Amino acid sequence: MIQDIAPHTYHNEYHTAEPSDGSPVFICGNRTVLLKIEDSQLVFPLWKEVRASLPDASSRCRFLFSIDGIDYFGIIGDAPQPFCGYTYERLSFLRTAQPQHLAYAGMVAHQLLDWYLTSRFCGACGAENIHSDTERAMVCPVCGRVEYPRIAPAVIVGILHNGKLLIS
Ligand SMILES: [Zn+2]
Repeated sequence: MIQDIAPHTYHNEYHTAEPSDGSPVFICGNRTVLLKIEDSQLVFPLWKEVRASLPDASSRCRFLFSIDGIDYFGIIGDAPQPFCGYTYERLSFLRTAQPQHLAYAGMVAHQLLDWYLTSRFCGACGAENIHSDTERAMVCPVCGRVEYPRIAPAVIVGILHNGKLLIS
């Protein structure tokens, strides 16, 4: 499974962090992720490339998660034109891409950045949300509604009885 990235360790605890020049940054479109392949390996844009290509990068950059102690960031909002030889690839491209822990990171980054895009405004009163200072949550400054990233777990279960498979 794509989430089985051992011996790499993934941490999703939220904290405020600033990217350094070499920090990997995810930029996503509609079910796409900006990347390139070098020596058959996934490469995501570095902060120094993003900052040089997007004038508003600093205001749109947000810490996403860390893997093996390396902080990964994302650009919130509309997908910009590709730059520095990167191209937008469909999410399905990541299913077989290597290394697997970076493919997993790309999938998770897309989920988070999509959540940010669709959580920009309060679902109750329509005011523009602001990011919580203490947790990964969008907070409405007018009515106080708090929205967290949605979790959509899924399981597939096979029920067998006397050699037969239950089908509905
Ligand atoms: Zn509100």
